[in-house]
Amino acid sequence: MAKSKALHWQEPATEVCPQCNGSGEWVGMFSSGPCANCDGTGLVGSDGEPLSTDDLLPMMRRQRDRAVQQFRQLLQTPGVREALAEHRERLAQKERDEHAALRKGLRGG
Ligand SMILES: [Zn+2]
Repeated sequence: MAKSKALHWQEPATEVCPQCNGSGEWVGMFSSGPCANCDGTGLVGSDGEPLSTDDLLPMMRRQRDRAVQQFRQLLQTPGVREALAEHRERLAQKERDEHAALRKGLRGG
């Protein structure tokens, strides 16, 4: 049963994929795509084989949860929220300036 299996799940030992050096990308002369050796994850099991979906999905969920937690902790750091607000304002101002320049260009000015 899937439920009892999940209770005993342990994150498998992984290694960086030797084919793509962890990028998950295969880059050829004229095209690129997901690395076939690691299914595009950049990781392989300790046996060098691609990780199974049963292992990958909970690993991805854990990584997502860790990233969300780190982001929340970062927002608690003094000054970060203010810096973020300033950054957003700078981006918005840049966009307004670019739009103004475009409008001016359309008018032939
Ligand atoms: Zn790979």
